[in-house]
Amino acid sequence: MTRARRVVVVGGGLAGITAALECADAGAAVTLVEVRRRLGGAAYSFEREGMTFDNGQHVFLRCCTAYRALLGRMGSERHVRIQPRLEIPVLKPGARPVLLRRSRLPAPLHLAGALARYPHLSLAQRLRAGLAARALGNLDAGDGALDQVTLGEWLSRHRQGPEAVSALWDLIALPTLNLPAASASLLLGAFVFQTGLLSSADAGDIGFHSGTLAETISEPAAGALEQAGVDARLGWRAESVQRQGSAFVVAGPEGGLIADAVIVAVPHARAAVLLQSLLPASAPAWAGLGSSPIINLHVVYDRRVCEHAFLAGVGTPVQYVFDRSRAARAPVGCQYLAVSLSAAEREMAMSVQALRERYLPALEELFGGARGARVVQFRVTREHAATFRPSPGSAARRPTARTSLPGLALAGAWTDTGWPATLEGAVRSGHAAANAALHALELEHPEAPASDSAAFAASARVPSA
Ligand SMILES: Cc1cc2nc3c(=O)[nH]c(=O)nc-3n(C[C@H](O)[C@H](O)[C@H](O)COP(=O)(O)OP(=O)(O)OC[C@H]3O[C@@H](n4cnc5c(N)ncnc54)[C@H](O)[C@@H]3O)c2cc1C
Repeated sequence: MTRARRVVVVGGGLAGITAALECADAGAAVTLVEVRRRLGGAAYSFEREGMTFDNGQHVFLRCCTAYRALLGRMGSERHVRIQPRLEIPVLKPGARPVLLRRSRLPAPLHLAGALARYPHLSLAQRLRAGLAARALGNLDAGDGALDQVTLGEWLSRHRQGPEAVSALWDLIALPTLNLPAASASLLLGAFVFQTGLLSSADAGDIGFHSGTLAETISEPAAGALEQAGVDARLGWRAESVQRQGSAFVVAGPEGGLIADAVIVAVPHARAAVLLQSLLPASAPAWAGLGSSPIINLHVVYDRRVCEHAFLAGVGTPVQYVFDRSRAARAPVGCQYLAVSLSAAEREMAMSVQALRERYLPALEELFGGARGARVVQFRVTREHAATFRPSPGSAARRPTARTSLPGLALAGAWTDTGWPATLEGAVRSGHAAANAALHALELEHPEAPASDSAAFAASARVPSA
């Protein structure tokens, strides 16, 4: 009888979970090691005073097919919902709320009506924005030259002034790229707008986690890995990866794990350290990808102050707000609003008190009801290295899953998936790494798990729990 091929996956975020499941499906004996005591990596929940908070508000789009298929595999569809049609309430202090909503027309006409009626830009600005969107849709997103300039430079050349950038383009760029248009690579910017908004009408419908991230990712992932026969070891830190003959040794607290193939699915700065001796020519470049922070403010009011489940802000420091009262099990009568701040470099340096002083009045400007309300909790979660920094030049630093050493593969949202650092990018990277490892082991690659799309679509249309 031949011995099952041994695969060690380092890192239990979405990339590692995906890669481990796929290798196990192909018949490999898989061990996944994760330094933390939970799975899910950058997407996690924590408990305080009887409530469950998510570290950040994770949204996805209908076009995130790999992430949605993983949710299907883990049985988590009931914890998410997708809007029937893209719809973003936009609030501006002193102005009436506006609904940015797609129509039923095919792309790109599906957004024409919303843009034509958008009151935060003048008529001339709206016309110019429509022309710029058309030109952006025509860019060749495979052209590496686009990674030499920022999206902001390109927009400015296409007659988009600061007002149009902040009231329109950054509404999409900030949450998807985790950088403003002024700093983000045009290559990734063009990819996001083309894939999410301009290629097909329903691609950009927004998906929300109506459950907590623990309920949706971490807990079901543990069940799925166990069912697949993966030996998942939590609280296990990989200290080095070395060669031993044709095999590898992953050294950790309890000695080494011997593997025929290793998939390293940790953030880029960690991967660069872990693999500097095995891949000295390529690993140093990864650290140069840098990082961009995300901050979430968790504000629990003693009453209901906001009627929207989700909204975007314009003309205010408030970027996006999510009503998380039900998912977090906020006390009866209270409303818990999570304020998500992408590319929050300035806020990273602010104290909790300074954040309170800046953001509570800003929320009161948006929601009159917040003025007389008492804030029963105000928490801040800071993710210093939430994503890699998708600035010009980043594309060349993102490695492919396959390395120069057969059997050693890379996964993670930072690798060369073509996507910005997202849930979808992480899952796609896991598939690519499993593919590379299985190829090296000459194991047959299993079919991508079919998501039960009809059941998913039905559950996805159930209104927010
Ligand atoms: C606040 C926040 C909000 C976000 N919002 C969104 C959003 O709205 N939409 C979206 O699509 N994406 C969003 N993202 C990005 C998304 O969460 C990430 O791109 C994705 O989860 C990354 O997954 P990953 O598996 O590549 O990496 P990670 O999740 O970082 O997983 C890597 C894992 O490796 C482990 N590890 C590290 N070193 C070792 C070691 N030596 N040994 C063992 N284990 C190790 C880590 O503990 C971690 O669990 C957000 C991220 C943050 C932080």
